[in-house]
Amino acid sequence: MCASPRSILPLLATLLLALAMIGAGVPAWAAPRIVAAENFYGDVARQIAGPEALVTAILTNPEQDPHLFEASPSVGRAVSAADVVIMSGLGYDPWMASLVKAARGGERVVIVAADLAGRRAGDNPHIWYDPQVMRLVAARLADVLARRDGAQALAIQQRLAAFERGLAPVDARIAALRLRFAGRAVTATEPVFGAMFAALGMAVRNAGFQRAVMNDTEPSASDIAGFETDLRTGAVAVLVFNSQVSNPIALRMERLAQASGVPVLGVTETMPAGQSYQSWMLQTLDALDHAMAH
Ligand SMILES: [Zn+2]
Repeated sequence: MCASPRSILPLLATLLLALAMIGAGVPAWAAPRIVAAENFYGDVARQIAGPEALVTAILTNPEQDPHLFEASPSVGRAVSAADVVIMSGLGYDPWMASLVKAARGGERVVIVAADLAGRRAGDNPHIWYDPQVMRLVAARLADVLARRDGAQALAIQQRLAAFERGLAPVDARIAALRLRFAGRAVTATEPVFGAMFAALGMAVRNAGFQRAVMNDTEPSASDIAGFETDLRTGAVAVLVFNSQVSNPIALRMERLAQASGVPVLGVTETMPAGQSYQSWMLQTLDALDHAMAH
């Protein structure tokens, strides 16, 4: 049977597009396809792989709880087609581990940020609040891409250097805040910001409470009482909460902090739209500085 003109048209369009790309010298076949489980890794991938790379980020909405995410079939197809997959690990994105296992055809490199950073099961999974982790991810991705396409090695190296320059103000801000606030007692309703608190040398209280809220379980009576005492007596310089997840007990602590005159700061675990990883970190550090200055 003859194909109808209607079914030939898309084929023709694809062929013309391919010819146009060859004509324009665009190496369409070499552009790496990168799928990032979370959008901050997607941003790093764009910075390292350059404008021709096809980067897809899956978790992009700072209004949704990433711990409750379920992947649609289209995500599975993107993973099957990917040359490189970047994920956090530590049980933060188990859906991606399943999709990688189920992926069909081809070879793909899987970069697990937690493994690069030497984190172990049970560690705080919100590791991207540590810029050192992002450095490791960027360097590994640069290495993978340069091996894949040696002709791009120099350009990739230059973009990695630009990524590092972009991180320098973040490092400087952390160092400056650390000088002022290291050793200060702080608290949080969840361990989202824990890696940054550690980088700042702050003494984080109420770890048991935070773990329970993160795991969607009820904090113990003594954990709650300890948290309330810290707020009522002003034993902590700031309360950080996860503005991406609503939880009644966390909300109760936010309100108690406000009533007790303890500064409150909301942070997200997904990068807000219009930010780069570096600008997101700087904005969050500015907000912390502002909150603690009161
Ligand atoms: Zn979380």
